Amino acid sequence: MTLTEEKILNALKHVIDPDLKRDLVSLGMIQNVRIENNTVSFDLLLTTPACPIKDNLKEACIEAIKRFISDDIVVNVNVKAREYKPISGEDLLPGVRHVVAVTSGKGGVGKSTVAVNLALALVQMGARVGLLDADVYGPSVPTMLGLEGSVPNAKTENGKTILLPIDYEGLKVMSIGFFIDADQAVLWRGPVASGTVRQLVQDVDWSSLDYLIVDMPPGTGDIPMTVAQVLPLTGAVIVTTPQRVAQADVRRAIAMFRHRAINKPIIGLIENMAYFIPELHPDEKYYVFGKDGGKKLAQELDVPFLGEIPLMATIAEGSDFGKPPVLFGPQPVKEAFNKVAGEVARRLEIIAAEQITADASS
Ligand code: ADP
Repeated sequence: MTLTEEKILNALKHVIDPDLKRDLVSLGMIQNVRIENNTVSFDLLLTTPACPIKDNLKEACIEAIKRFISDDIVVNVNVKAREYKPISGEDLLPGVRHVVAVTSGKGGVGKSTVAVNLALALVQMGARVGLLDADVYGPSVPTMLGLEGSVPNAKTENGKTILLPIDYEGLKVMSIGFFIDADQAVLWRGPVASGTVRQLVQDVDWSSLDYLIVDMPPGTGDIPMTVAQVLPLTGAVIVTTPQRVAQADVRRAIAMFRHRAINKPIIGLIENMAYFIPELHPDEKYYVFGKDGGKKLAQELDVPFLGEIPLMATIAEGSDFGKPPVLFGPQPVKEAFNKVAGEVARRLEIIAAEQITADASS
């Protein structure tokens, strides 16, 4: 039997990307096929290095070649991240593929906690990630990462001052909190707030990123609305809690992003503090406020559900003492954040694929 590139590609056409619903060959995800005796090697180009199903896709490729050609073939799959043009922010942030707003209908639901730990989970998955703390009402990212008092460095480029984000475990961090006192921010009006956020987008050396996670000002008032308008967003992640699940503020947050003036997709809904885990019994779960409220609300509002984060004392403590729970917390907490991050990465690539299809047909 002679192996040819055509035979290999025909076998791989049987592997379907479950999210994009097309085969890997027609998606251009198989490249650089090399054949040497009975060994086949090729690159599997992923849409994002944080792809949560990369191992499944790799296995499916190996299986397809063995099944449709021969069991004797040795298959080497090199998993690589594909260089993509940015989906959002082509002018403002040319090197950033996705800008993700993390938002909530009301304050105090854990929006900043989710933004910080989501960003770090994506770093751990191998992505290049930035975190922009744009919560002008009360920037809490410096505290959550133990970076209070840090001052970003600056450089001059063509006569312009460019700020350098602070590196935290591979995450590029910029916060309004590095420049102002915590109690100063609440006095801002919309134009000042959005002008400052725009500067933190424009005048910061974000360089190349897969994801820029933005911790938004909470709510749907004048300030969050103007901030959302200046950001080149791919879409928004909405954080809620079980107590808020049935309430109007989540609907308002969704409506704000769907409003003509912003008009950005909802990436999905995250239910924070969805169940309680006792410190001494980390393998137990208590749905104190009822089960599946977030999931049902997401269905009702026709937005994707991205997952649940437990309520646990170590999450609050870790955040207060600059020890982010996705890095320092117990296993169930790490797993919950990682799962949500994988789901966010997945949904973003679905949005990207839909945009490419929409562009092609317009
Ligand atoms: P927001 O950004 O929505 O105002 P924060 O992320 O600042 O909310 O969280 C508010 C408070 O709740 C903080 O003290 C935080 O540590 C705590 N918190 C958030 N999520 C959790 C959780 N899942 N378990 C325990 N405490 C939490």
